[in-house]
Amino acid sequence: GVRRLEAKLRKAEAAGRGKAVKRLKAKLQVAREEAGGDSGAPGSKRPMEEGDGAGASLKRRKVDGKRAKDALPSTAPPALGEEAPLGGGAGDPATPPAGAGSTATGEAAAGPRGDRKLTGNTSILLFYGYVSPTWTKEQQDEAIEFATKSLSSNGCTGRLRVAREGFNATLTGPHDGIRAFTEDIKAFSPEHFGSTDFKFVDHLHESQMLKGLKVWPVTELVTYGFQGEAAALGSGGRHLSPADFHRAATDPNAVMVDVRNFNETLIGRFQPPGTKVLDPCMRKSTEFPEWVDKNMSKLRGKKVLMYCTGGIRCERASAYLVEKGLDDVNQLEGGIHRYLEAYASDGGHWVGKNYTFDKRFAHGATQADVISKCIVCEAPWERYQAQMKCPKCKMEVLVCRQCQFDNKKKEKIPKFKLMCFLCKQRSGKPGHSQGQPTAKHAGAPKGRPPVQRASSAAPGGKKHHQQSAGGGTSHQTPGGAKHVKF
Ligand SMILES: [Zn+2]
Ligand SMILES: [Zn+2]
Repeated sequence: GVRRLEAKLRKAEAAGRGKAVKRLKAKLQVAREEAGGDSGAPGSKRPMEEGDGAGASLKRRKVDGKRAKDALPSTAPPALGEEAPLGGGAGDPATPPAGAGSTATGEAAAGPRGDRKLTGNTSILLFYGYVSPTWTKEQQDEAIEFATKSLSSNGCTGRLRVAREGFNATLTGPHDGIRAFTEDIKAFSPEHFGSTDFKFVDHLHESQMLKGLKVWPVTELVTYGFQGEAAALGSGGRHLSPADFHRAATDPNAVMVDVRNFNETLIGRFQPPGTKVLDPCMRKSTEFPEWVDKNMSKLRGKKVLMYCTGGIRCERASAYLVEKGLDDVNQLEGGIHRYLEAYASDGGHWVGKNYTFDKRFAHGATQADVISKCIVCEAPWERYQAQMKCPKCKMEVLVCRQCQFDNKKKEKIPKFKLMCFLCKQRSGKPGHSQGQPTAKHAGAPKGRPPVQRASSAAPGGKKHHQQSAGGGTSHQTPGGAKHVKF
């Protein structure tokens, strides 16, 4: 992305094409900001909640990850039988597939496999906060300096985007250190962050620490490409609590809009009975405004229910819908994260896993099924930990542990087998959404694995457990469909 744009810009400058230079400079700035989310370390290449971004960055403040980690209090060694750390061990293609661990812990926050011991001292902190009026450039710089200092001194790592409109964070740290940072930020600006919804996931193993700390300036907290006062925050949709959202989901006039990117919707999504869920099938959030403009007829006169991972992507996206003249626009407060806390056992109207921007990769309700498949062998799989991408559009694709292992040790996976669902279905240039059909979750896009609601999720249902080659515990449902749990 960045390097290609830089080359184009040099050409345009040499040719003296003023308009192209201006356009490319704007594109390049966005690309560089998005690239800031990458930490450059295997196992920690997690994008930010805005959904885009990987690669090297030119303007980020970096604190050496090793130093930050060294500052942490040493934690007790993992309990006997603890699995290899997700990011480095289990996710390492060199590690052969292993058998499943013990039974599920019953905690939604237990991690993708559900069998991680909840005894660690590591916490994840997710939050965003908009400020109004927006900061000046100087205030933005002050905020960056403050946050870098507080996070470093508290032994925290991860990524913090700082725009003139506020903060967007995916951070990790020791339990007390991460809380000390939230106290600091409240004191830094009580009027803006005094009542911020800080989301903690506690008692994780140290292997869940993100590598390094990046605090860097961006233009928008979520890159939609909105200019200036467009889609202003104050005019956003109504915030619904998980319980209210749950109730509204089955309203006969409701239509849901998934504001996340396609690779996220693939592994988990809302599926309320009788209600349409519209998936814009985006690769990037910048595609959202165009999708809305083309699909207004599906939204007009409806009770629009929007959702995303933690709530941030709905903030200005809902404002955009209101600006377009829709008058019943609602968004899930705290996102899927808070919803799954409220419906931790059966997931409510949610099926599959919630894509996370930390080293859990995905997490779901206790009884969550894996609804997605390995793109190569079609075994049930839901974690984007292979760091393999579609050769055409570069979107990350699902590759199971067995295929990762085979790719490394036996035979390299041919590129065409890594082609994502969107590229398989769509013709034309990647990222160009003109003329593309609007998919709803019921069937499209073609080739998408069907969602199977586990009949075994019924309370009291007997489950027959057995070890499977994929490393999970599988059970046969009465209908004969095989579900694998991790
Ligand atoms: Zn596979
Ligand atoms: Zn693709």
